[in-house]
Order: sequence, then C-alpha cells, then structure tokens
Amino acid sequence: MIDSHCHLTGDRYADGVDAVLDRARAAGVRGMVAIAVDIPDSLATQALAGAHDDVWCTAGVHPSEAGRDHDVAALADLATNPRCVAWGEMGLDGHWPDPPLERQKLLLESQLEVVMAADSVGARPLPLVLHSRKALAEVLGLLGETPIAGDRFIFHCFTDGPDEVKKVLQLGSCVSFTGVVTYRNAADVAAASDLVPLDQLMVETDSPYLTPEPLRGQRPNQPANVVHVARFLAARRGMSLADFDAATDATARRVFGFSLPH
Ligand SMILES: [Zn+2]
Repeated sequence: MIDSHCHLTGDRYADGVDAVLDRARAAGVRGMVAIAVDIPDSLATQALAGAHDDVWCTAGVHPSEAGRDHDVAALADLATNPRCVAWGEMGLDGHWPDPPLERQKLLLESQLEVVMAADSVGARPLPLVLHSRKALAEVLGLLGETPIAGDRFIFHCFTDGPDEVKKVLQLGSCVSFTGVVTYRNAADVAAASDLVPLDQLMVETDSPYLTPEPLRGQRPNQPANVVHVARFLAARRGMSLADFDAATDATARRVFGFSLPH
C-alpha cells in the first residue's frame, strides 16, 4: 500500500515522525510521498526522503500560502533531487476567502512557468500534484493554457462529483481520494470514485488532516490510516483489498516513477 499524499514535516505529530513512519509500516504501508507546501518545506521533505528509503518528496507551494511571496524559481533546482517525484502541491482553493483567488492564481501560474521551463531544458517530466477545492473549472482553465500533458496531472483529495471527475479522466489525469470519500455526507465524492479506472486511481491520507471513517475525528491523521481509504474503495468495487492495493500501488509507482524498497 502506498500513501500517495501526506504531510510529514514540522511539528505535526506530537510523538515524532519516526513513530508515525513505524506505525505506517506496521499497517502495511510500503511507500509514502511526503508533500511539500512551500520552499522551506520542499527542503524539509527532501531531507526526510533522503533519510528513509520508503519516503519520497515533492517541490511546490500550496495555494493557502499565496498570501506570502515565494522564491518559486528555487523549485527548479529542488525538483532535480533524485528523491523528488512530483511538483506540488499547487493549485487553487475556493473554500476560504483568504488568500484571495487572484493571488492563488498568480502563484499557480508562476509554478506552471517553472515546470514548463524545466520541461523545455529536458528535465525529468515529473507529475504535478494539484490541489483543487471548489475551483476545478479555474484550475482546468489555467492548466489548459499550458502544453503540459494531462497524464501528468494528479488531482489529489478529489472532492467534486461524477460530472467533474469525467472532465479530469478525459485528460488522462490521475485522481486520488482521501478519507473524505468515506464520509457519510460525501456520497457525490464516492460516486465519482466509482468512475475512476484503476490505472488512474490512487489513495492517500493527506495526513495530518481528513482522518477516514471509522476513525473520523481522531487527530492527527497518519499514513497508517490509508488502509481505511483503500478498504472503503475496494468494497465499493467488490474487490479484495489485496487486488485493489496491487492495482493502485501500480498506478502510484507508474505515475511517480519510483520502485518500492524490498
Ligand atoms: Zn496536501
């Protein structure tokens, strides 16, 4: 099992990240992608990935950080680290009024520029981990203005419905689901998940947030809990957990381009 999206750095876990990683391994999690939220965090996730052969990292700035200025040009160098498997997370969040969407758009556009510049000099074409909350049309609009291939997009923590997921799947993009899909008040998200082919489907925790059922309310969430997301989605599809894991792990390994340690 792979947790394709978790936040592991800083002081998010009172008992320390090593205990969090150990509990994940004990639960059968064989790989974790530590997602960065700004430039210093891109360095921090890189250090963590350098220290653990079952952790990989990313380089990007989260839209919630759009109220501050960022040296996004630094991402180009960060992304050349061999443990870095994606750009992001980046995107737009329309849930809160602050930071304003216009600032978020500028931050996303500036990161897409960095990605395109790296592409143009022949860098590894890393996938893009996209945060889209109540802003899918705007995110798709900005992505559509770039030549970046749709099969490099990962729509993480998908929280829209069936109509929206069809648009994303048409692009050839990947979709990943968090604990939100297990919530009783998210029937639309679960219905969307049914439409995603296994080779475009991944699971994640988005730890320390969004603890899945039946543990909803426990904080912080942790990568060990990705099993509950996987179990929920496997059951909806009438699949065994083992078959579901094998398929979604294969998707994650292909999209991020890593192989699991033995
Ligand atoms: Zn995240």
